[in-house]
Amino acid sequence: MRLRHIPGSEEQIAESPYVIQAPEEKKTHWAEVFGNRNPIYIEVGMGKGKFLMELAQKNPDINYVGIERYSTVLLKAIQKQERLKLPNLCFLREDAQRLADVFGTGEVWKIYLNFSDPWPKDRHAKRRLTSPRFMAVYDRILKSDGLVEFKTDNQDLFEYSLQSVSEAGWNVEWHTFDLHHSEYGEENVMTEYEAKFSAQGKPICKLAASRKVSASKN
Ligand code: SAM
Repeated sequence: MRLRHIPGSEEQIAESPYVIQAPEEKKTHWAEVFGNRNPIYIEVGMGKGKFLMELAQKNPDINYVGIERYSTVLLKAIQKQERLKLPNLCFLREDAQRLADVFGTGEVWKIYLNFSDPWPKDRHAKRRLTSPRFMAVYDRILKSDGLVEFKTDNQDLFEYSLQSVSEAGWNVEWHTFDLHHSEYGEENVMTEYEAKFSAQGKPICKLAASRKVSASKN
């Protein structure tokens, strides 16, 4: 998702109390950001934030961090959070590649990847958020028994991800090619893209992955 540049968006992000500035200084100190030691769940490529806002309202004892690399998109999430003022939700304007610079080993309890950009050309496969390169980043920050949960409408990306996640040394705990008509869909919270694609009749795929071998990372 890329929106037309909004003049002043960088300044608004730099001044927003909901965006963590200099996040590398928070590494291993995220409990101080939220003022409690509740579990931290993150969404990488959050877009406008609908999914995390719903989860944050449902689960006040979980802290949520939304990561988005584009300022114009992040600004939409900030504007919604200015109305909601959810105490357990904040944002980072970061590229997923930098996650291990801002979270310590095992500091994150769950990672959501929702409708990640498919990068269909083979030569761009490394940019996919389920590529081994990114799985290695998640491996550094996720708790040893933590999960990566990935949803998409894109069958090719999903099939690629089932394979790449396994090749990267993770275990696919479960998967479905039709989330909304499966047992895994019961507690599902829809993202913005998911609402759009399922309204068009597209089935939604989902997988949950954990480490094959639990390292002592807690
Ligand atoms: N997750 C939302 C949803 O399901 O409605 C948004 C999906 S949108 C297709 C993907 C988002 O991921 C875009 O806003 C894009 O800017 C962001 N994104 C893609 N690659 C990223 C990266 N490497 N780091 C951070 N954000 C990224």
